[in-house]
Amino acid sequence: MTEELLVVKNLKKYYPITGGILGGEVGVVKAVDDVSFTVKRGETLGLVGESGCGKSTTGRSLLRLIEPTAGEVLFDGVNVTALSADEMRKMRRHMQIVFQDPFASLNPRHNIEKILEEPLIVHGIGTSAERKRKVQEMLEVVGLSSYHARRYPHQFSGGQRQRIGIARALMLNPKLIVADEPVSALDVSIQSQVLNLMQDLQRDLGLTYLFIAHDLSVVRHISDRVGVMYLGRIVELTTSTQLYSNPLHPYTKALLSAVPTPDPDAVRERVILQGDVPSPANPPSGCTFHTRCPHATEECRAVRPAFQDVGDGHFVACHLYKP
Ligand code: ADP
Ligand code: MG
Repeated sequence: MTEELLVVKNLKKYYPITGGILGGEVGVVKAVDDVSFTVKRGETLGLVGESGCGKSTTGRSLLRLIEPTAGEVLFDGVNVTALSADEMRKMRRHMQIVFQDPFASLNPRHNIEKILEEPLIVHGIGTSAERKRKVQEMLEVVGLSSYHARRYPHQFSGGQRQRIGIARALMLNPKLIVADEPVSALDVSIQSQVLNLMQDLQRDLGLTYLFIAHDLSVVRHISDRVGVMYLGRIVELTTSTQLYSNPLHPYTKALLSAVPTPDPDAVRERVILQGDVPSPANPPSGCTFHTRCPHATEECRAVRPAFQDVGDGHFVACHLYKP
């Protein structure tokens, strides 16, 4: 058994842009453009970046909820990119997703019992009585009560619905959970309750998380390591502690400038981002961040920086740093 539960190598997802009279391909959106990372067993890897940088596409294409354009995904030693559709369906019980908006993904006409039972039925697990018992158990596990089984999604608050979304993801005892902005739609006061629940579940059930957020302060406490994405690429990846105390990439510094520091004495270089995120259909040459970077040089405009380890597993893609 390897230490890594998930290995993502050179993952790409390109969407063709069609147009013209003949509806031919006139361009391509590079939603995810050569992303590599690993997640260790029991670890939480945070993935952050502004909206549109490719976080959801990364999460969904590694689960093959959308088909990657290129790259390899190893899950528990199995190359899932090579599995047939049928084999992938079986594999997916071990790798589940929690969505940002559970309401959109919960069938409004089904009660909670039916919603939670469904994955078990799809995978042919248990008798009807066993499945119903598992639903009762799972409701307790996520901090709801057995009487909630009879209710419908609209009868719950946002926080409760996300608990149901988490319960559904856990019904098949998965190893990996891809949590795609699971608390972004919730009130701040409810966010920490759901984050605490996820941490308790991770400890009790030995789960591994890929935790996606657009907000660095949300991933900080839950993540062991954090990857920062910009325009379809990971530009920096290191431990949570390192990322917050010693950020290297100018983009990471800019994101952190916007997050209040708990330590008022902490000296932090303030980087204010200029302009908007460029379009992934027409990304800048060289380092794609050069159009907004205060340190950009000729080299940055011309050459794409390699994503490399500059020491102790601190990866950065930036010409300012040479290993
Ligand atoms: P994030 O989750 O970081 O906000 P996404 O992964 O949703 O970003 O999107 C990354 C980029 O890919 C965006 O520019 C988005 O517009 C584009 N994109 C996402 N899905 C599609 C699609 N089905 N067709 C075309 N472009 C898409
Ligand atoms: Mg998203």
